[in-house]
Amino acid sequence: MNLTVRILIGMAAGLVLGVAVQQTGVSESHWLRSFFVEGIIDAGGQIFIASLKLMVVPLVLVSLICGAASLGDTGSMGRVGGKAIGLYLLTTALAISIALILALLVSPGVGGDPPPSDVTFDPGAPASIKDTLVGIFPTNPVSAMADGNMLQIIVFALLLGIAISHAGEAGARVMGWFQDVNEVLMRLITLLIKLAPYGVFCLMTRLFATQGWEEILKLLSYFMTVVAALIVQMSVVYPTLLMLLARVNPLTFMRKMREPMLVAFSTASSGATLPVTLRTVEQRVGVRNEVAAFVVPLGATINMDGTAIMQGVATVFIAQFYGIDLALGDYLMVILTATLASIGTAGVPGVGLIMLTMVLTQVGLPVEGIMLIIGVDRLLDMLRTAVNVTGDGTVSAIVARSEDDLDMNVFDDPEAGRVVPARG
Ligand code: ASP
Repeated sequence: MNLTVRILIGMAAGLVLGVAVQQTGVSESHWLRSFFVEGIIDAGGQIFIASLKLMVVPLVLVSLICGAASLGDTGSMGRVGGKAIGLYLLTTALAISIALILALLVSPGVGGDPPPSDVTFDPGAPASIKDTLVGIFPTNPVSAMADGNMLQIIVFALLLGIAISHAGEAGARVMGWFQDVNEVLMRLITLLIKLAPYGVFCLMTRLFATQGWEEILKLLSYFMTVVAALIVQMSVVYPTLLMLLARVNPLTFMRKMREPMLVAFSTASSGATLPVTLRTVEQRVGVRNEVAAFVVPLGATINMDGTAIMQGVATVFIAQFYGIDLALGDYLMVILTATLASIGTAGVPGVGLIMLTMVLTQVGLPVEGIMLIIGVDRLLDMLRTAVNVTGDGTVSAIVARSEDDLDMNVFDDPEAGRVVPARG
């Protein structure tokens, strides 16, 4: 049985068990909840997420050092970076536009009950653009790694990689060492992914044991509009870009991306999924390390197409709910700020909703509107995170193809990089 099927079985079993626990209606203090769900199952889920997260910093650092060192000249690095950022912005802008069009067609917020007037929401002060830019450059790489600050780690790894490629024999020795470490780390992910079916089972069980359905039923048209826009992004935008710009079969690509999609869905974190995405993009899709090691971590940090979709639909929903008309200029503003907000969203659960405050403030909508949709956000978060990581993979494949760094033998081979599941 292949790993994808195993993960799906883990997911389905977790869903059934979780719903069953919820249906028993037992109280929080009953052993079924306190000992089983919140104890054993929650521990299993947390250990799974920790085992993925522990890989992120060493993996990004080492594989990007290797990538930057073999790209060597800064010219091709700038070109790869430029193409990646351009495509990330394009996919995000397309995502929000689709979200806005669908939301305006469906009008999910028209005719809702007025929200209670006593709710308040404090988004805190956003960082300025200057501070954000300066903050990308680490003053202390060790503390960047300790904090898991992805952009700072990327900058440090790029600089070190460039230096290695310019350091002659010493550089070659260091490079050899990093390449060995990279191979060992990739092997470690392959081992850890084998545990995914169990980890996913725990995460799903706990979620569905605690997730209520009433909120979703109340907000069904908002929920379904976001889902529809996510489906369009996955089934129209990415396949079209893959066919037009990379001239590859999108079905083969999507089939190979199933594991990162499922892990993203269960963890709701593109950051935690990053090791799985990187492994898949390199070993299953065939993007060479030089491109993948740079473009995938960058995408996991700044490219959030699914998040942008939620922000687009949510903005229209909240405007309609409060009966506020938005003009064409406001919609253009939404496209601009939601693109920026999704760049600023960290790849962890729920942050997309917090960043939505930036969009709402920009077009003069009440930030309290967020309280209207918070109840359905967890499930949407899972779905949009799966789209976020698929977008990262899509852009990596397109950039690699344009640089002649997509190994078509790997891409066309269904067995390439396949994880052989653990027995038992
Ligand atoms: N959970 C999303 C991610 O990690 C971010 C968000 O939309 O909240 O990609």
